[in-house]
Amino acid sequence: MNNNGVLVVVSAPSGCGKDTIIAEVLKKTDDAFVSVSMTTRAMRPGEKEGVNYYFVSQTEFEEKIDQGEMLEYARYGSNYYGTPAGPVRKLLSEGKTVILIIEVQGAGNVKRLFPDACAIFIIPPSFEILEKRLRGRGTDDNDSIIKRLEIAKDELARAVEFDYIVENDVLEEAVEDIITIIKAEKLKTNKMKNKLSEVINNA
Ligand code: 5GP
Repeated sequence: MNNNGVLVVVSAPSGCGKDTIIAEVLKKTDDAFVSVSMTTRAMRPGEKEGVNYYFVSQTEFEEKIDQGEMLEYARYGSNYYGTPAGPVRKLLSEGKTVILIIEVQGAGNVKRLFPDACAIFIIPPSFEILEKRLRGRGTDDNDSIIKRLEIAKDELARAVEFDYIVENDVLEEAVEDIITIIKAEKLKTNKMKNKLSEVINNA
């Protein structure tokens, strides 16, 4: 990245509470933004266009890929999910913190594109608790839950590829952990170079 913005990638198995955690992180930080993804999956009750996702058809999604408008994208289950590139690049160039809440394949692609992106994986306290949370959510049918649990096993096996692992047992603690990680990222030498030059040039 040739700017001071911090790109944070957050992945977690479905049902780990990543959206809730990040919503809390946003309330407690003033320069962080979450990228709104595009998807071909159906809208769930309570979701809003342009807030939770941009909901598009498969044809529209494939057009965006062909036009080079996706920063990354992946297939999850039988749907496409992807990050529109424009808003992310703009926010990073303004020095903002941009959080992508995406699955592991996409996270790997982002790390290849932006090697100094900070990748955080959220794990549940146990697989049993994950299954309970997923069923308790009541948003998916049984087949979809079984599919999500299968994907979760593969995703957990890839957590070692991430820079940080945060356990979501007590929500407030997971939120604090993520805020701490972002603070540390901002203090990395690479991000502090402009400030350092300023101090040196005025010496
Ligand atoms: P859900 O259907 O539960 O909203 O999301 C399914 C999975 O897709 C989750 O792991 C979610 O983080 C991931 N996802 C959401 N947006 C994106 C995206 O833009 N890119 C990628 N690669 N994954 C995404």
